[in-house]
Amino acid sequence: MQEFPKLFIPGPTHVPSEILEVLSTPQIGHRTPEISSLIDFIIKGIQKILYTKNHIYLVSHAATGLWEMGTKNSVQKGILHCSNGAFSSKWALSSKKNGFKTRNIEYEWGKAVKVDEIDKLLKTGQYDVLAMVHNETSTGVMSDLDAISTLLKNKYPSVVWLVDAVSSMAGIKIDVDRLGIDFLLSSTQKAWGLPAGFSVCSVSNKLIEKSKTLSNKGYFLDIEVYEKYYLKLQTPTTPSIPHMFGLKKIIELIELEGIENRWKRHIELSEHTIKWARNHGQELFPDKGCHSFTLTCLKNIQNWDIDKINEELLNKGFRMDRGYGNLKGKVFRIPHMGNIYKKDLEEYLTTIDDIICKLNY
Ligand code: PLP
Repeated sequence: MQEFPKLFIPGPTHVPSEILEVLSTPQIGHRTPEISSLIDFIIKGIQKILYTKNHIYLVSHAATGLWEMGTKNSVQKGILHCSNGAFSSKWALSSKKNGFKTRNIEYEWGKAVKVDEIDKLLKTGQYDVLAMVHNETSTGVMSDLDAISTLLKNKYPSVVWLVDAVSSMAGIKIDVDRLGIDFLLSSTQKAWGLPAGFSVCSVSNKLIEKSKTLSNKGYFLDIEVYEKYYLKLQTPTTPSIPHMFGLKKIIELIELEGIENRWKRHIELSEHTIKWARNHGQELFPDKGCHSFTLTCLKNIQNWDIDKINEELLNKGFRMDRGYGNLKGKVFRIPHMGNIYKKDLEEYLTTIDDIICKLNY
């Protein structure tokens, strides 16, 4: 098989061969007892990982489609978006393009989502849905879900809370039921450590009930349709069965590693990367206290020739990141999630060390 560089980009992330092999398990029918027992295993596994009793839908497309599942099934009056990077901005754009009354709080990139402005705007009563990205992959910023949860529980219990956890789910602890998140979504190519093209979400009762009151939701993303098949342990359309075998394998690996150990590993890898960066005189892009545990976004204040480093890394078998969206060329990101363990990260950072030494930095 052709060898490609080992991925050190924040998605798709590295998938080792023992996981790739599982994806070629022979197919099973999508209306059979076999698939129902596979789905049952995956749902129970994800519920444990997300600390929730909420329903888990398995979805055979990218997470971007789940942004629209969330909004189409919840927005009646208007939606309040919090944009602090490329993905949160794109989600707000998707709401606008869907024709929803959309208000967007724009934070400077590098900053986390804060409660004050949300509170001020929810107070107007014009918005019945709040949407935000937990871990902004473009900036490496992780926002504090606890603070927002407290605000919503205390002052706006009827507001539906949609959270994108594309680059945090399965890498960072998210206690869904305690926080009261109505819709938490992710695709599989980041901290789940699987190929792209498949997504999962947890859906609260409140959202399921709200969906029933809305019309013009279309068919493909209608929660009422999903719910009907969920109750039969099936999916509405023919799913990507290889991804389901992959998810089963990852859930088994998470159980073997121990869920708390998994959260700890991601924090430790983040600390290790930050220490490495500071030893080289580089600085974090995110504001103090809001850096992600699954990827580290660095300002290139040492003016390293990132394109040259990229070239050298490719020669050594690694694919690096050189920034995303408005930050392309200004930052570089080091992912440390999913199937990346300490030895993988050390190998990568040591290779960069060798390169920067060669380049006389
Ligand atoms: N949200 C965030 C935070 C992301 O990082 C990404 C992709 O990188 C997406 C959404 C879009 O995910 P997908 O490509 O699965 O639609």
